Amino acid sequence: MKRMATRREILVGVAALAATSAMAQPGRSRLILLGTGGGPTPKANRSAPAQAIVVNGAAYVIDCGNGVARQMALAGLPLNSLKAVFLTHQHSDHNADYGNLIWLSWAANLTTRVETYGPPPLKAMTRLFLEMNAYDIATRIADEGRPPLKGLIVPHELTTGGLVAEDANVKVTCALVDHGAVKPAFAYRFDCADRSIVISGDTRPSDNLVRLAKGADVLVHEVLYGPAVDRMVGAETNAKTLREHLLSSHTLAEDVGKVATQAGVKTLVLSHFVPGGAPVVTDEQWAAAVRPHFAGKLVVGRDLMEL
Ligand SMILES: [Zn+2]
Ligand SMILES: [Zn+2]
Repeated sequence: MKRMATRREILVGVAALAATSAMAQPGRSRLILLGTGGGPTPKANRSAPAQAIVVNGAAYVIDCGNGVARQMALAGLPLNSLKAVFLTHQHSDHNADYGNLIWLSWAANLTTRVETYGPPPLKAMTRLFLEMNAYDIATRIADEGRPPLKGLIVPHELTTGGLVAEDANVKVTCALVDHGAVKPAFAYRFDCADRSIVISGDTRPSDNLVRLAKGADVLVHEVLYGPAVDRMVGAETNAKTLREHLLSSHTLAEDVGKVATQAGVKTLVLSHFVPGGAPVVTDEQWAAAVRPHFAGKLVVGRDLMEL
């Protein structure tokens, strides 16, 4: 009897089809949500925060939550297409697989330079990661004829907003956002030939972000569901501190809608869901909380969704 395709196989198939159709359209930007769950705890239903913007076959990855390389594989994105990495801030749900993504891409035949951008201590992280994995790296250079990995990673530390990078595919700018005690924290704007995409990173409602996102086609914004916060932190021993952190460093769904309206973006994509796992908040609940405050196109993000 013929076996039914699993949901994962269907998703992979859809991503591969999309990849094929995009190759026929030079210059078109693809935005893929690789991981949409906020917070460092691994979740069954959402991977940790990461996005890919792909232009002319080059992948620009924003944030490296745990599993980002695996999510790229599931999305049908070749790991050796990695061109640049942007970290919004140094929280483990955003940087846990920073080194792993590049290291595993190198094992998947990455031979070109990867520029990386993010807050300090990005250079030390890069150096220490290479040192920690020196044995494997040296072995693969000797046994498999791979180029030295060290020379392929070029880290750039960011401490303030402004122009980050520009190439034939995309111009990248950033702005400082307000993520409580974690400083600096950045949002990034990608101006491609066909459209502009802004990734909020983690932030409370931010005027700098509104300015950065002015008139953008797409804003991917983190989101917090107020009614679930008490239920979510209730069981934790550090409930009071965690609750204060969440409310002072993140953006409630209602305010995400207001930020998107102030910025005048065409499409708002919700991601970095808190809670991203239990207690479960439905797509309808997320949308209902934002909708009264934003009249444009609203997308409740899912892992491997392409926009
Ligand atoms: Zn986060
Ligand atoms: Zn954070």
